[in-house]
Amino acid sequence: MNLDNIRIVLVNTSHPGNIGGVARAMKNMGLSRLTLVAPRQFPDEQADWRAAGALDLLQQATVCATLDEAIADCQYVVGTSARERRIPWPLLDPRRCAEEMARRSGREQVAVLFGREDRGLTNDELQRCNLHLHIPSDPHYSSLNLAMAVQIVCYELRMLQLGDTLPAAAEDEWDAPFSTAAGMERFYQHLEETLVGIGFLDPAAPRQLMARLRRLYGRVRLDEMELNILRGILTETQKFAPASDRVPDNRVPDNRVPDDGVPDDGVPD
Ligand code: SAH
Repeated sequence: MNLDNIRIVLVNTSHPGNIGGVARAMKNMGLSRLTLVAPRQFPDEQADWRAAGALDLLQQATVCATLDEAIADCQYVVGTSARERRIPWPLLDPRRCAEEMARRSGREQVAVLFGREDRGLTNDELQRCNLHLHIPSDPHYSSLNLAMAVQIVCYELRMLQLGDTLPAAAEDEWDAPFSTAAGMERFYQHLEETLVGIGFLDPAAPRQLMARLRRLYGRVRLDEMELNILRGILTETQKFAPASDRVPDNRVPDNRVPDDGVPDDGVPD
């Protein structure tokens, strides 16, 4: 795919602020080709202000008098619309549409048209398009702000461009390896010994304490560094309460493991 072959075309935009917002949305996502068809007010201070760091896109924008001129050299034209039209047209959501555009952008010029803030694109303009794109918004309030609609389309293109370079899971880039099953077993054993040693766990009536703790640490998924820290804390704790000197304090009501009416078999054995 080649993002340089995909242009965003704004038709007859009334608010210059929106043009600036579009430039910013595009530059954030790595697109740079902006075409303006008969903008009501451009260049304009409000456009510059909303563009923030994307002023270069505004300066390089192509301004055309007609839509025909803006898309004359394009092989593939997509029209965006917040509403359903009378004559059904091939219609896709932004994700699938981005796939289509990405595929073609390797060798073809692609244009995505965005309409006026108050009336969108006319039927005549939409009928010049190969495909219609609808952002699946709430039908009771379906029309997005122009720059936000552009943002969504450009974001989908960027996601496709980044593809496999994105981490597949939140923990892909971690600074320590995750603990192994054997490491966890040694930890649970150490934890149990310590809890008995400090009188928190009565080996004669262990209830479901260790199962609950296993479930807790299982949810966290410790890495080796974290496991070592916890093992260190346990070792130090044991120094204060050698197991041999301590007897579980049965006078304390056992409310530390809440008897909350949850049957013991609510926790995996
Ligand atoms: N009131 C107009 C919508 C204008 S919003 C109407 O009813 O058609 C300005 C432009 O943002 C639209 O022309 C379209 O290009 C884009 N847009 C807004 N919401 C959209 C949506 N849900 N799906 C696709 N494009 C949308």
